[in-house]
Amino acid sequence: MDEIRIYPDPLLMKKAVPLQDIDGKVKEIVDRMIETMYGNRGIGLAAPQIGILSQIIVVGLEDRWTALINPELIEGEGESVLYEGCLSLPTIEVPVKRKEKVFIQARDLDGKKMNLEVSGFPSRVYQHEIDHLHGILIIHYISRLKRKLLIKKMVKGSKNFFKNPGS
Ligand SMILES: [Zn+2]
Repeated sequence: MDEIRIYPDPLLMKKAVPLQDIDGKVKEIVDRMIETMYGNRGIGLAAPQIGILSQIIVVGLEDRWTALINPELIEGEGESVLYEGCLSLPTIEVPVKRKEKVFIQARDLDGKKMNLEVSGFPSRVYQHEIDHLHGILIIHYISRLKRKLLIKKMVKGSKNFFKNPGS
């Protein structure tokens, strides 16, 4: 299992690069991402979160996972607001406004073109992970002042967490 990069790791704010060749190396990265996602009870993970600046995301919902290479949001419809968390921002939850339904174009692990239409909660997860590929985190959806306060709280919270592991 890989270590998850935690904010303010600068890599989390960088843009990931699209992949030209989808080879065995990419499959290896996806395996590591899936292990890390499930190992942390996550429902999604983007490659930059394990220190790899490539456009790869995995989403794990309803006992199955999907890996998308070079995912692109083509179109969105409707809007909803919901509190979200992120494995790179432990203890933080913020309201994020997202499209209710999105169309995504991507490649699968065989390099084949994929067209996805997702709505509701899964749509939110895909949008969250695609944001990571553009260096966008959930705290970028709130005001600078609120962000500062939350980060302070997060750092304090994780210090306590490391002092009392298991609690
Ligand atoms: Zn995240």
